[in-house]
Amino acid sequence: MTAAFKTIFPATGAPQLQVCTDCGQVNYPPRELCGKCLGASLAWQPIPAGGVVQSLTELHHSLEPQYGPHLPWPVASVKLDCGPVAFAHLQPGLDVNTAVTLRILADSEGNRMLVAYAADKNAHESIQQWLTAIQFQEERP
Ligand SMILES: [Zn+2]
Repeated sequence: MTAAFKTIFPATGAPQLQVCTDCGQVNYPPRELCGKCLGASLAWQPIPAGGVVQSLTELHHSLEPQYGPHLPWPVASVKLDCGPVAFAHLQPGLDVNTAVTLRILADSEGNRMLVAYAADKNAHESIQQWLTAIQFQEERP
């Protein structure tokens, strides 16, 4: 089960999604055929990291023990600047219509996931404190 999560994204760091080499459509979630032209040539490519929180909710229960101390856990649908709407773990305290930056990070078990945090550069310190507290980070080579 855990291994399946690790395979969703090819690496941590700047966000990458499947881009159709036939029509240029950015596809999310990952799929075998392009959602626009049904082309089968999808390549993982870096995408712009910006988006806007479209809706959000909080998880009050998790089957993953490492998340328990941090509940309730905000998650959001984020309208990406490049087109699709993606689901992401959300920095606490953000609201709908907030501009966010996305990264792919790994949790303490190595599961890669999209994380959205404030695009406001003044929030850098609070973002780092949050990521340290929940043990989300880029994988070390
Ligand atoms: Zn396409």
